[in-house]
Amino acid sequence: MPESVIDVFDRLVYAEPPAERRDVVETACVLGGSIAGLLAARVLADHAERVVIIERDELPADPVIRHAVPQGAQVHTLVAAGVAWLDRWLPGFSEEMVEAGATVTLLHEYAILYDGHRQASSDDQIRSILAGRPLIETRIRNRVTALPNVTVVRGQVTGLEFGDGAVTGVRYTADGADQVRSADLVVDAMGWASRVPDWLGRAEFDQPILERLATPLTYASAVFERAKPTDELPQKGVVSMHSPGQAEGGLGLAVTNAIEDDQWIVTVIGFDEDRPARTVDELRAVVAPLFPLFQEATSGAAARDIETYRQAESRRRRFTGLRSFPARLVSVGDAVASFNPIYGQGISSAALHASCLSAYLRGEPDQATPAEEFFRLQEVVVDAVWAVSASGDQARLDATNGREVPEDVLEQRQAGQQIVAAALVDGDIATEFNEVAFMLRHPGVLADPAFVARVRAVTEGMESSLADKAPLAE
Ligand SMILES: Cc1cc2nc3c(=O)[nH]c(=O)nc-3n(C[C@H](O)[C@H](O)[C@H](O)COP(=O)(O)OP(=O)(O)OC[C@H]3O[C@@H](n4cnc5c(N)ncnc54)[C@H](O)[C@@H]3O)c2cc1C
Repeated sequence: MPESVIDVFDRLVYAEPPAERRDVVETACVLGGSIAGLLAARVLADHAERVVIIERDELPADPVIRHAVPQGAQVHTLVAAGVAWLDRWLPGFSEEMVEAGATVTLLHEYAILYDGHRQASSDDQIRSILAGRPLIETRIRNRVTALPNVTVVRGQVTGLEFGDGAVTGVRYTADGADQVRSADLVVDAMGWASRVPDWLGRAEFDQPILERLATPLTYASAVFERAKPTDELPQKGVVSMHSPGQAEGGLGLAVTNAIEDDQWIVTVIGFDEDRPARTVDELRAVVAPLFPLFQEATSGAAARDIETYRQAESRRRRFTGLRSFPARLVSVGDAVASFNPIYGQGISSAALHASCLSAYLRGEPDQATPAEEFFRLQEVVVDAVWAVSASGDQARLDATNGREVPEDVLEQRQAGQQIVAAALVDGDIATEFNEVAFMLRHPGVLADPAFVARVRAVTEGMESSLADKAPLAE
């Protein structure tokens, strides 16, 4: 019997890194040295004689918001799947982050709210890391680039070299001069704006199929001084999600995390044309009524001005089922799929793509042929993550556009709402739901008949949404 997508996903989440290095390529070239590129480089270090990362941006040793990664100013929660993999590839990563001032939290130490109702708490072991994105990236980079066979070259990648149906090298400019580096395996990690699909088209290969979903949203984040150490806080963070019209000022979501340097990062998000805060004072005002921790988080002095970020759409590229695709080329991270960021899945997706790369290379593949097995595994991950993020966005879009929704889709959405509602009063259901939301399990587990029956039993007999029956959080 073929392995189910649930089992494939489990295997990718819970695999162990190889015990020893086994090289299957001489030179692997990673294009882009952000988080997805670094995680791919970590995997490649176990399978390549040398790994060269080509990155256009300056990569300072200290955490700073990089020019090429403007989302670095916005809240980044590193969710459980990413934490687990970082601790396996870079042993001691969580402890190192805590030493650097980040917060490692279990979900029951964190408040999750839907329209003002708090999700039930349980004795979960689902860990997240709360930190500024520049700190997360810098700590990963310092560890990965310290590996003896990994080097970083500063350069702007401008194209690929092809020969005999395979990628054979990379063109880039460095110090004003055009360069070519030959490579036995190339990994595109240049983010959502990667030009690799154009370069494939120009070389008359098939381009991956681009799927887009409009998710116009605006982030606004500010950072505040924090008076209390994390162990004296009632919660280490809070995320408050709002259905359309359920919060003042067009607020879709608000989040605060206790991060390094004794600071809070506080972010508010509005959909479509809504911009819930343009100034620090507006941000303080909009989060004040939501949950007491927000008042605590915004009571200190602002450590920097408010920073905004606008995103227009979620997008994914399909690399399976193409007729002609070069060998020795794979893509990872946002270059493959960049989702609505409110679900906090980007870094953990990149970690699971790297897990796909590890599984692929361990299979000692025939590298004269395209990396179909890699893309097959990666599609399981992208489908799973897309199912979680895109279904909510599509529902919002349908409601905005007044679109008639097919019966089966409507039923699926109602089932999802029932799970969210049941999780407000049942801690075990909350844990199982969060295992999916935080990417430890495939969303297919939520359709398991026993789980569905438990959700029904909790929600049975309620006249309307259980959310109406759950106590409002105080
Ligand atoms: C507002 C916002 C909030 C987010 N919040 C979260 C969160 O809470 N949790 C989470 O897990 N994820 C979050 N994400 C997603 C996360 O930021 C990304 O998924 C993650 O950074 C991985 O991205 P990446 O490495 O694939 O690409 P990027 O981080 O975009 O990096 C691409 C890299 O490629 C380099 N590059 C590009 N072109 C070239 C070229 N031609 N030559 C050389 N180098 C090149 C760039 O300089 C850059 O370093 C958020 C994203 C946004 C936008």
